[in-house]
Amino acid sequence: MQSAAVTAWHDTLSDIKELVGEVRFNLWFRRTRALCSKEAAFEVGVPSVFSAEWLDNHYRDVITCTLSEKLGRAVAIRFVVDPGLFREEREKQGRSDTDLIRQAGAPENIEKSDPVRYSLDNFVVGPCNSVAYWACVKVAQNPATAYNPLFIHGGVGLGKTHLLRAVAGAVRGGEQSGDIEYISAESFTNQFLFALRNNKMHAFHRRYRNCRILVIDDVHFLASKQGTQEEFLNTYKAVSRHGGQIIMASDSHPKLIGKLKDELVTRFLAGMVVKIEKPDFNTRLEIVRRKAAERSLALADATAEFVARNVSGSVRELEGAVNTIAWYAAMSCAPVGVSMAGRILDGLIESQCLPVRLAGIDELVTRYAGLAEGDLRGKRRTRPVSRARHLAMYLARELGSYSYSEIGAYFGGRNHSSVLSAVRKVEELIDTDEAFSVDVAALKSQFGS
Ligand code: ADP
Ligand code: MG
Repeated sequence: MQSAAVTAWHDTLSDIKELVGEVRFNLWFRRTRALCSKEAAFEVGVPSVFSAEWLDNHYRDVITCTLSEKLGRAVAIRFVVDPGLFREEREKQGRSDTDLIRQAGAPENIEKSDPVRYSLDNFVVGPCNSVAYWACVKVAQNPATAYNPLFIHGGVGLGKTHLLRAVAGAVRGGEQSGDIEYISAESFTNQFLFALRNNKMHAFHRRYRNCRILVIDDVHFLASKQGTQEEFLNTYKAVSRHGGQIIMASDSHPKLIGKLKDELVTRFLAGMVVKIEKPDFNTRLEIVRRKAAERSLALADATAEFVARNVSGSVRELEGAVNTIAWYAAMSCAPVGVSMAGRILDGLIESQCLPVRLAGIDELVTRYAGLAEGDLRGKRRTRPVSRARHLAMYLARELGSYSYSEIGAYFGGRNHSSVLSAVRKVEELIDTDEAFSVDVAALKSQFGS
């Protein structure tokens, strides 16, 4: 590695440290290094795929600008997982291999706006996200006609960024391309502050105020940032004035972001506001199948179902689970069965928060009893529903280390003593009804017990 490139990277880091502050610097920049600089390409080594993605999404432009200036020539940055940094991170954290593989993802490089990774075609549509999906399709086909602005909100890892990038990619690749900007609110903030400090506001305005489609991700980041909100409002007005389309995503509804100018909230509410929910079992299963196919991973139905049932949080977690299994399958050159998948994903399943594992029991018993999703958590007390609910409570008690109150709270807000009596009833039934006891054993085996 040439010393000029190392020095330029070092200088870039000190500028960025000043810009983003100590905390964010330590989090994202401290463990990076210049790897390779050849003509216009500059590779930066990072400890994990996760940090590569983060830097790419939030800091690419600022890093590119600063580094190009230091080097005296324009460069295109690539973030690459560096094996040395990856190992250091492992030693420091004393984590298990499984943890680390999961955290690092399958070692691969990250390219910006990867059209293969984020497309409307490879987005799995289910009841949880179909409204958001179709709104995006419509906007991609005919920007600035309906749904302007389009505001998508929902929890972490549920596909907001995927949809936003896919729309930007679809418009870029279509007939109406030109003047499209995808940017995270954090990156917008960083660029704005950078432009202010370096007398580059003119270029900043030109870039964002003139665009025909402005896609801005994670707008909740703007909360409490008065100066950037003001700038964003002006950008917003300018884009609207010349008939541009605005698409946004956030972790919460515009009204709930808080510490956001009223004028911004009103504008966000003026178009279409749509929520993405967590995927249900069938959507999760389809996601697992598609992600496995994308990685050329042959997954038996039972294994795919096991993953979909037990990893019931976000799509990102599901994707992590499939990546981890693909990694093991490639290393061991053998297909991964249910029990192996169980062992591989042990940490992941355990690390999920309480409601998630209870949700797994909920899903399984609902399907076993042929009920509708939500029945077990609801108020209905018809015989089949009550029986299934008792069974779910029993399994929760047997398989998880939940207290009676936690179980009761999850299954429709029931109290300690009704859970206790449900568990007793099921125990009695197991003793007296052989068919039922066989079913219970089968259900338990689905959770590896
Ligand atoms: P968010 O922005 O809501 O936090 P992302 O869009 O980053 O979530 O999604 C996390 C990961 O899950 C990404 O790799 C994305 O491609 C994938 N993903 C999310 N939803 C879907 C879906 N419905 N179909 C396919 N992949 C999805
Ligand atoms: Mg996102």
